[in-house]
Amino acid sequence: MRISDVVRSKGVRVVTIGSDGTVQELLALLNDFKIGAVVVTDDGESIDGIVSERDIVRHLHAEGPQILTGPVSAIMTPNVRTITPDADLNEVEQTMTNNRFRHVPVVVDGKLHAIVSIGDIVKVRIESLQAERDQLVGYIQQ
Ligand code: AMP
Repeated sequence: MRISDVVRSKGVRVVTIGSDGTVQELLALLNDFKIGAVVVTDDGESIDGIVSERDIVRHLHAEGPQILTGPVSAIMTPNVRTITPDADLNEVEQTMTNNRFRHVPVVVDGKLHAIVSIGDIVKVRIESLQAERDQLVGYIQQ
């Protein structure tokens, strides 16, 4: 399976924030969209960073609540690992596991296209296993 299969299943909407958006605004996005990470981009196409709930927890613990009124650029990860739609699902799972992150933005022609989380991958995997099981059961019962 490829990442394009996951994107087809979940859609291409990506929740983003500008680099000067505040951590408080970021909290609202994470809450409103029920997500764990937001891509930081100033033009909606090139990726400036990624910021997840982990970054908030880490910086809150280290620096205190004053980070809430500061910009997301102060807590984001600037070197973002990205993938393209033709990436192999097994390899992406391996990358997420080895690097301990649960989100990877998908880019097409260098531009932000979609985002895939470990939850999206697990969902597609389960659906595929269920389809395979139904096929096998149908085959046996024939
Ligand atoms: P996550 O598990 O996705 O919540 O992220 C854990 C940590 O990895 C946080 O510091 C994120 O900013 C960072 N992170 C998340 N996704 C990526 C990515 N695709 N590339 C680089 N860092 C990431």
